[in-house]
Amino acid sequence: METHNILVVGTPGVGKSAITIRFVLNRFVTDYDPTIEDSYEKEIVLDENKCRLDILDTAGCDEFSCMQGITYREGDGFLIVYSITNRRSFDLVTHFLHEICHINYLKEEEVPMIIVGNKCDLEIEREVSYQEGQDLARLKHCTFIETSALTNQNVEEVFYAIARETKQIKCYCEE
Ligand code: GDP
Ligand code: MG
Repeated sequence: METHNILVVGTPGVGKSAITIRFVLNRFVTDYDPTIEDSYEKEIVLDENKCRLDILDTAGCDEFSCMQGITYREGDGFLIVYSITNRRSFDLVTHFLHEICHINYLKEEEVPMIIVGNKCDLEIEREVSYQEGQDLARLKHCTFIETSALTNQNVEEVFYAIARETKQIKCYCEE
């Protein structure tokens, strides 16, 4: 079966584990250890074909203490997650984008990446507008989706979208 390796990246506390666990186990976690890095498998049906997603939920990381480049090389597709309630996490999205592209020697439009604005249920604590997320994604040739792991809003959509983009790029490269 075709397998896509999906890496979930972003600063600590934005909800990387929460959206991954919501998608894989359909549970909401409130107190997940931020230092745990774990991988999950899930089979999905994408356009009538079964495929497997190997999802690596990475440990918290920022511009000072970051993952090894080797980890970025293991991804076929990337979810770059920030929290709409935390401006700094949004400011660092660009940093993650550049790292991923730089390490893989690819241009932004050649890498399957989705910018994910999580915690959209916390409207009263919002620090980053929808428009800002959308503008950044447009500038960086990425898809943009706001999610909530709490209410399960758009969580499936994000994983299906990244699976689809990853598959498309692989097909294109094989031609
Ligand atoms: P990670 O460090 O990026 O993996 O973040 P976690 O998944 O551990 O989440 C950090 C905290 O934010 C936890 O207390 C979660 O319960 C909470 N959280 C994650 N996603 C959401 C969400 O969509 N809405 C709300 N209200 N809280 C969330
Ligand atoms: Mg985590």
